[in-house]
Amino acid sequence: MKKIIILLLISSIFCGCGSIEPYDSRLSVYTSFYAVYDFARQIGGDRVNVKCMVPNGAEPHDYEPSVRVMAGLEGADIFIYNGLGMESFAESIKESVEGDILFVEASQGCDVLYGYEEEHDEDEDGHSGHDGTADPHVWLSPANAVIEAENICSAFCTKDPENSDYYKKNLEIFRRKAEELDNEYKKCLSPFRGESIIVSHGAYGYLCGRYGLLQSAAEGMGGSGDPSPRRIRDIYRYIKENNITCIFYEGLTGSRTAAAISEDLGIRLYPIYSYEGLTEEQEKKGLDYFGVMHETLVSLTEGLEGEK
Ligand SMILES: [Zn+2]
Repeated sequence: MKKIIILLLISSIFCGCGSIEPYDSRLSVYTSFYAVYDFARQIGGDRVNVKCMVPNGAEPHDYEPSVRVMAGLEGADIFIYNGLGMESFAESIKESVEGDILFVEASQGCDVLYGYEEEHDEDEDGHSGHDGTADPHVWLSPANAVIEAENICSAFCTKDPENSDYYKKNLEIFRRKAEELDNEYKKCLSPFRGESIIVSHGAYGYLCGRYGLLQSAAEGMGGSGDPSPRRIRDIYRYIKENNITCIFYEGLTGSRTAAAISEDLGIRLYPIYSYEGLTEEQEKKGLDYFGVMHETLVSLTEGLEGEK
């Protein structure tokens, strides 16, 4: 009998079915999608156990968590999400999940942009479509990324005051890196102030706003779906009127629209990254927010230099 029990114990340890997991005394943190996951990891270091709900490569704008993910969330200490409509599932989670979970809307305190999406578009009635929809992509401005990191840090300090010095030290490192990134962006993009860029996924309103560029998006804020024929016509006209010679597509997902426009008009294609996930290559290189933002800056600079 003893033998059987031992065998059962051994097989349950090695079967990998997850029934026996080593006890982890660290804060259990659930994050919605990649950007907030990375910020939480950078602030929490080895003192927190951070999980990301939206799998890498999945589209966060329309993601719905599975029952299993929701069950895992019930045991968490903190749930961090970006907010501003980025995660349509966040509100329903707030209402349905039980347990002593601290909900952190990381974008709290950022200056929000509204309704840029249809800037160059008009609907059938001739309305210019400033509909007041919040642009959720705040993290693509380094100054806003710091605000998100600050909100995450203060949540960690609240739930785990013993390690607050550690979290605050990591926040200072994050802040310094963000300042360096901001200075690099300012330096590289200053020759192009006032210029327009065409992007596939309309995620770059905050980035463009900070560095004096104008964004025109082919596919709008959600980053998926084909644009209307009217939108395409407007984009073509906009490219010709502004002598635009390149289009920036979403490097993580690719863009059929951007590829088609590039082929039709013979303009160049450059990848940029909204940091809603990592490409395989970025993952191999071990890039974080700062590394990926640097790749976007290199592409922006190369593309814009070609316009001169
Ligand atoms: Zn997006």
